[in-house]
Amino acid sequence: MFQVEVSARALSPFVELVGAARVEAIAREAEATRAMLGSHTVWNVNSTAAGGGVAEVLRSLLRYARGLGAEVRWLVIEGPPEFFAITKRLHNALHDNAGDGSPLGPEQAALYERVLAENCAQIERLIRPGDAVICHDPQTAGLIPHLRQLGERVVWRCHIGHEGPGVEADVGWRFLRKYLEGVPVAVFSRPAYVPSWFPRAHAVTLPPNIDPFSVKNEWMSELSVRAVLTTAGLVESAPGVCCPVYVGEDGAPHQVVSRANVIRMGGPPIWSVPLVVQVSRWDRMKDHIGLLAGFTKLLEQGDDLGAELILAGPAQGGVADDPEGPEVLREVEHAWQALSEQVRRRVHLAELPMVDRDENAAMVNALQRHATVVVQKSLREGFGLTVTEAMWKKRAVVASAVGGIQDQIDDGIEGLLVRDPSDASETARALRRVLESPELRVRMGDAAYKRVCSEYLSVSSLERWGWLIQLLYS
Ligand code: UDP
Repeated sequence: MFQVEVSARALSPFVELVGAARVEAIAREAEATRAMLGSHTVWNVNSTAAGGGVAEVLRSLLRYARGLGAEVRWLVIEGPPEFFAITKRLHNALHDNAGDGSPLGPEQAALYERVLAENCAQIERLIRPGDAVICHDPQTAGLIPHLRQLGERVVWRCHIGHEGPGVEADVGWRFLRKYLEGVPVAVFSRPAYVPSWFPRAHAVTLPPNIDPFSVKNEWMSELSVRAVLTTAGLVESAPGVCCPVYVGEDGAPHQVVSRANVIRMGGPPIWSVPLVVQVSRWDRMKDHIGLLAGFTKLLEQGDDLGAELILAGPAQGGVADDPEGPEVLREVEHAWQALSEQVRRRVHLAELPMVDRDENAAMVNALQRHATVVVQKSLREGFGLTVTEAMWKKRAVVASAVGGIQDQIDDGIEGLLVRDPSDASETARALRRVLESPELRVRMGDAAYKRVCSEYLSVSSLERWGWLIQLLYS
């Protein structure tokens, strides 16, 4: 178990986005929350410090909570690969997916509990009775009974889910249920994700947020975007135009120096090529292979739009709690190799370096900003942060109508939804519509940006979590 340091940030930059009155109201509420908390700390516990949606959400929330004077902290549990194989199986199950099909029986429960008991022993040294502890996702659910025994006020935050019952979802919930019985509050991203046996009175729905001022989402000039993508080897552009600079989390200028490891046939796409981009972990539920099929269909339809596809994700081993990544990347590479040469030339599989988290974020930011279309072709999605990130950047988004994405995008207004993710032709049609129409891209991009401003920025989450913490201590 280790602690992630998050530096405090002031809320003042949000004034220009949401107005002074709202920011002042949040500051007043924060004062009320602090008074109720007294000397207690709010702890967040998850299983990775980088590379997935949860880490992203935590960073973008905690820094402003700290800026408002709240005593909030972030702990990351650790465990052996066998533990993360079980938790990945659970993650897939809650999406009603069999994953690797491995058992979730007593043996797995024993290992899961042993690893969490070891982590809890370390957590116990830090926390004090009466603190609030927010445990994130199935990876940490087994901590809940221990923490409650210690007298903590526990919240379980579940970032994934499946609408209604399902064979695999039931398997996952059967495993987790005993740890969740009696938890005072559980937070889900959508009402439909609350399992039928969980008491409705203890379930709360809160969508996740993004930080518009993080390295991932901060404004970048076109010259910087060009320089970052060229240095990373993701796009080819005139050299020496500008330095690949971005503003790091420490507020100081930094430069991108690493190159992405890209599987491709020729060189990188040149700057003027329209790019279709998906950024996601190498996870079967992100349906990289389905997107390859949709993109192939698009190219097969003739009248060439000149587009190229970049599938970008973290470099191998970059996400601590995602052991399936390397295997999935290999599968995607095989699928790429099986494409016709004409299509293969247009597809790039990019592993983005994860050694420096800020540098990785700058690459993602630049890629999303340069994309003509950002795709999230998921088969399941609790709530797609990459979708929100692209919407914030006024990109045209094409995404599957699954899970939280259905709440994030009003079809035809803030992006295009693909109703049947298994239908490559539907994906191809949506891509074509967007690639062919600059007007549609601008209209949807503007609407998407407005939607994110009103609902999905850190300020919205601060309001909601402030209320929830007050509820816990009332
Ligand atoms: N991400 C990243 N680097 C990568 C790939 C993904 O920082 O190489 C980020 C991405 O920008 C987003 C998060 O990981 O912020 C993924 O969140 P999402 O909700 O889309 O999916 P999850 O990984 O939680 O299933």
